[in-house]
Parts: sequence; structure tokens; C-alpha cells
Amino acid sequence: MPETRYVFVTGGVASSLGKGIISASLAKLLQSRGYRVTIQKLDPYLNVDPGTLNPYEHGECYVTDDGAETDLDLGHYERFLNVPTSQANNVTTGRIYQNVINKERRGDYLGKTVQIIPHITDEIKRNIKLLGSKNKYDFVITEIGGTVGDIESLPYVEAVRQMKWELGHHALVIHLTLVPYLNASGELKTKPTQHSVKALLETGVQPDVLVLRTEHELTPDIRKKVALFCNVDSRAVIQSIDVKTIYEVPVKMQEEGLDEIVLQKMDLPVEERPSLKEWKDFLNKLNKASKTVTIGLVGKYVELADAYKSIIEALIHASTYNNRKAKIELIHSESLTDKTVADQLKGLDAILVAPGFGHRGIEGKLLAVKYARENNVPFLGICLGMQCAVIEYARNVLKYADANSREMNYSTHYPVIDLMEDQKNVTDKGGTMRLGAYDCSLVQGSKSFESYGKELISERHRHRYEFNNDYLAAYEAGGMKAAGTNPDTGLVEIMEIPSHKWFVGVQFHPEYSSTVLKPHPIFMAFIKAAISE
Ligand code: GLN
Repeated sequence: MPETRYVFVTGGVASSLGKGIISASLAKLLQSRGYRVTIQKLDPYLNVDPGTLNPYEHGECYVTDDGAETDLDLGHYERFLNVPTSQANNVTTGRIYQNVINKERRGDYLGKTVQIIPHITDEIKRNIKLLGSKNKYDFVITEIGGTVGDIESLPYVEAVRQMKWELGHHALVIHLTLVPYLNASGELKTKPTQHSVKALLETGVQPDVLVLRTEHELTPDIRKKVALFCNVDSRAVIQSIDVKTIYEVPVKMQEEGLDEIVLQKMDLPVEERPSLKEWKDFLNKLNKASKTVTIGLVGKYVELADAYKSIIEALIHASTYNNRKAKIELIHSESLTDKTVADQLKGLDAILVAPGFGHRGIEGKLLAVKYARENNVPFLGICLGMQCAVIEYARNVLKYADANSREMNYSTHYPVIDLMEDQKNVTDKGGTMRLGAYDCSLVQGSKSFESYGKELISERHRHRYEFNNDYLAAYEAGGMKAAGTNPDTGLVEIMEIPSHKWFVGVQFHPEYSSTVLKPHPIFMAFIKAAISE
């Protein structure tokens, strides 16, 4: 295909309708027709990236191979497409303004007055087209964060309007709205959709396709009515009905012909429907699994499951491929005490201690590690979870009474986790952690080596603290071993207890790279251990 096509996905009526999942599903369908597809998220907030956001604000921060701290929707994109994303796939208003202001300071605008139109909108368009340049992709699907009508979204919608005008049939807009069901009158209501399309029209954008989120089947009459009032073909009114799992959405969208209408409208041939065989095999396994595996996920943000999105999805992938239904119990680390821990954790098949920052909830995490270690319960510690495993072992096995991470107690006598050397002069918080993919070489015979089945791996990181190698010999003599290290720096990436059934702490984040068609080896082995007698 000679030229890149641009598909924009906007949202109306309410937030959280699932633009990310619709974008990822369309991408999956186009990908299964042999097209090269990428997805981009434009976020309307002023943070330069979501790395500085509290997970309570915006859910998990997802990290790409190239070390970008991004929106969690990029996780969906990778899980659906199996193709890595990068910094270019997530752009915020903060970054757009920062770039424009930097250019202004450099003098690039040659004395002109710098304005939202054209300078901000040009910068938005540049960031969209960047992904389409170099002929790497046939389709760039750009999801516009926020809801049409928000002040923050206006420059983005204006950029979309301009691109549609410039590119004609090579650009297309999908608008996602909600059709609420009124229980009292027993009716589905289309008025919010009409209003939302009007809001889009006021900014000069006519949507080409409407995707309607609904809890009940839409009748042909409703589709016709929406088509008539919103100037779209009735075939381009697509129903997106609530489903049990997000992984069913591509199948539903295929049944609705979403990819076909997009291809037609962009003057591309519509050939036979792809079978989606591997995807459907996964779905069948997911729906059929009758036995469960119960995993305790210990963290301090459990009130908001989105804070652990990738971990939860990685557990679902691995459980499914082990023919189990994942039952994930979110356990608040602050609720664990010496007295309650045994009661709260008993009966779990496996325990995962989550990543995190700061002191809050740390003692509860240490209790969870101790429980898993002493009761031979399969354990996976991720990032801070791995650091907790190291601290717990120091305190309770090696008898280093006040052992800690310097993040929690700067003046501990035993800083078994310490600030990385190259972090010592860092003062800014944004984008300054050890981020992105680094190599790790595994120790033959370790549980990790068995899981991956190879010696050299690459995994993504997001941390400032590390295992303190001054203590490595004492740990190894005392029964906890380094199972993976960075080949260039010697930084310990994995600690294991070989005498335990399955006890692995990883400094990196395996959850970011688990996908539907490629469950992550560490999660696969963790679940395997959880279900083995
Ligand atoms: N707070 C720890 C560090 O900075 C762990 C980070 C994490 O869990 N992502 O090293």
C-alpha cells in the first residue's frame, strides 16, 4: 500500500467507553488482513507524560521498550497487536506545548506570534504524521483522549479536521458514543449520541463511522434513526455491546463489519474475512476453563484495579494458557498485620507482590513475602515486590535487624536496596528513572532460566533503587541467589530462593510484555507452579 491511512477515534457522551479497546480491536482486524498497523494515543492533559501521575489519578503507567512512560492504553495496543509501541505512540498536550515553546525559545518561528492555530495544531499533526512517515505502517490509528466538547480536546479535534481536509479518503473518523437504556421506560436513547455528533459537527468534523456502546441489542430502527440524524450510512452505525471480556471485542467488531466499512470508506479492497483462529482459540480456552487458580495480588493501590492493569492481564493470559480461570484477589498491603496475615492469605495458590513507590504499605508487603516464603507458596515479586523479598530475607533469615531500602529508611544499618549510582545527582522527577528495556543474563539451572529457556533476555524497567551488590555474597551463602544480572553493569535483576517451590523476585516488569498470543514465560511458570501439587 503506497500511502499511510489515518484513522481517528474520538469519544462522546461519557468517558471510559473503551476507545482504547475499540482502537485496538480495529487494529487487530486490519492486522489480521495483512496490514501493518500502529495505534497512537493523544492525551489532553498538561503533564508531559503520565510518569509523574499518581496511579489513583490515571491507573498504571505503562513503559515501552524505548523507555517512554505512557498511558495504560498502550498496554492494550501491545497485548492485542503483539507489536511494540514507543515514545511516538503517546503524546500529551504537555509535550505538544513543551515542543512548541522550545521551538519559540530557539527562535524557530522567526518573530511570528505563536498561537494555538496554527502552531499547536501543526505540532499535533506533526506528531500524528511522524508515525506514518518512513512507510512503516499502512494504518495509523490515533485515539483522541477525553470527550468531544471538552475545552482540552479542541486543538486535537481541529487537527483532525485539518487532516481530513488535507487527506480526503486517506483519513477517517470513528466516533464512539453511548446509547443508554432507561429502565423506567424500557427504552434505548439515542439523543446523547445525536448531541455528541452535533458537538463534533460544530468543530467541522463529520464522523464517518459511529460505534455505539450499549447494554442491549440495538434494533434496526435505532440504527436507521442514528444514521439519519448523524449523516452516516446505516452500515456505518456499529453496535458495541457489553461483553464478558475485552478480548471478545475484536470478534464482535468483525461480526459488525467495522474493518470492512473502514476499508470501503478508504477505497481499499475488502477481501475475505480473516479467521482470527489463534485469537479465537485463546477466547475458547478463556471461556472454557472450569478450574480456577487463585492469586493474591498484594499492593497499595488495590481500590483501583487499573493501577495494576498489565499485571492482571498477564495473570489472565498465563492462567488461560494453563487451562485455568484466574481468580485474582486484590489485597491491600496496609490491611495486612502480623495477626491477620495468615488468615488473609490462606488458601491462595500463589502470591504476587506488586511494584510501587514510597513507604506506605511496605510493612504489609513484607508480611506477605514472609508468609509466601515460609509456607512454600509460589511467589512473584515485581520491582518493589522484588525489593521487599530482598528486605524480608535480610531481616528474617540473615538477621540484619533493620535492613531496608534507602528509599524507605535512609539511615538503615543494612541498605540491602540502595539508590543506583547514576540516580544520585538526579533532582527532576519526570522521566529520570532507569526506564525501558535492558538485557539480563540468566543463571543456568535457575527457575528463571527454566521459564525463559534461554540465557539472554531483555525486559523493561522503571526504578531508581537496586539490589546492593555489597551484600550479594552474604545472600548467596544464606540461601537466596541472584538468578539474573545485567551483563554490562552487574546490576542484579532477579533474586530466587532455590530451596522454595517457586520464589522469584524480578527488578524488571515482565507484565508489560505479556500479550494475548504470547503469554509471558515468567507468568506462565508462576501459574504452573501455583497449580502443581
Ligand atoms: N520504588 C522502587 C524504585 O524506585 C521500585 C519501583 C517500582 O516498583 N516500579 O526502585
